[in-house]
Amino acid sequence: MDYTIAVLPGDGIGPEVTNEAKRVLNTIGDVFSHRFNFMEGLVGGIAIDETGIALPEDTIEISRQSDSVLFGAVGGPKWDDPSALVRPEDGIIGIRKALRLYANIRPVVAQKDLLKASPIKEERLTGVDFVVIRELTGGLYFAKPKKRWTNRNDRMAVDTLTYSEKEVTRILKVAYDLARTRRHRVTSVDKANVLESSRLWREICIEIAAEYPDVETTHILVDACAMQLIQDPGSFDVIVTENMFGDILTDEASVLAGSMGLLPSASLGVKKVKKSGGGQFGLYEPIHGTAPDIAGKNAANPLGSILSAAMLLRLSLGLDQEAQCLEQAVARVISERYRTPDIFIPGDKIVTTTEMGQLVVDQVYNR
Ligand code: NAD
Repeated sequence: MDYTIAVLPGDGIGPEVTNEAKRVLNTIGDVFSHRFNFMEGLVGGIAIDETGIALPEDTIEISRQSDSVLFGAVGGPKWDDPSALVRPEDGIIGIRKALRLYANIRPVVAQKDLLKASPIKEERLTGVDFVVIRELTGGLYFAKPKKRWTNRNDRMAVDTLTYSEKEVTRILKVAYDLARTRRHRVTSVDKANVLESSRLWREICIEIAAEYPDVETTHILVDACAMQLIQDPGSFDVIVTENMFGDILTDEASVLAGSMGLLPSASLGVKKVKKSGGGQFGLYEPIHGTAPDIAGKNAANPLGSILSAAMLLRLSLGLDQEAQCLEQAVARVISERYRTPDIFIPGDKIVTTTEMGQLVVDQVYNR
């Protein structure tokens, strides 16, 4: 079957890691007789340099026409001026909005062969395997009013945290449906002791939980959750939370896996991919940023991007066998102790970004 993938590499290490993901997808295509047609679009700082805006209309169009989107990362010191009217981050926030991507899914697995790469004690990491579902298009990052002004020589600012019942219900159902395919446990994270929006979130969660009697529900305050993620990360199965809490907790959770460079993510929308037999259209990206400190050095870890491509195969294209083949190829490369510098410990074999991509390609051919 032929698939069209929009590729938005962005800035810094974004193009380096997405190149490897594309290479690996082409290999999957060879082995399983699919064709992936890649359509590239500008986003972020490079788009500002070339067109004056972070998300050109062309990029949105290419993405809308595709079966799903592979995204790199945006931003960097060159575009860091806080008073600038256009920012690279408008690219990622804008595309999520334009494609109505409301559910961000981030699996966190502490792989047995990488436990030593994490700063957390090995015994706490054994068996860690959970997924964070973050609401992506509501809450503090989007609601209005959002502005700054001056009040009698005092500088003021406001952001607004709004959620509707529909938004909360939609994201909670993603979490409960996913929990049914895993260990049947949902942890709903809020700040219901302080925030009205969290009290609504919890009320709706109690109602939804009643529709899923086979799933065990725990409600936890975000501050306690931040602690438990380090103290007892193995206790989680599916975590579901609103936009800003999810943003913070997922970065904290990435430490458990050993490196930002390893973790994939999916952002799913409402549209279905017709040729996939029910898969949801989505945007797939590693959770890391543009890593300006290592950009251009062929030193970035491409596995987060490659594993994002595996999520794309499974969740949007319905190609479960192909996704599994890719994930197993990555696991074999790791178990043979090939490492980019971010996860290297003495005794490992150090490799570059492109060498790591090639190792995964070889493993896919040798499946
Ligand atoms: P970052 O994720 O880019 O880097 C944090 C640290 O992790 C750095 O030391 C970096 O070298 C390392 N790292 C990240 N990805 C890696 C990889 N694949 N392999 C090896 N090491 C890796 O976060 P930051 O430094 O806070 O942000 C840098 C820029 O990226 C900023 O402009 C920020 O706004 C942007 N950013 C973009 C996104 C996105 O596009 N989704 C997300 C986060 C940050």
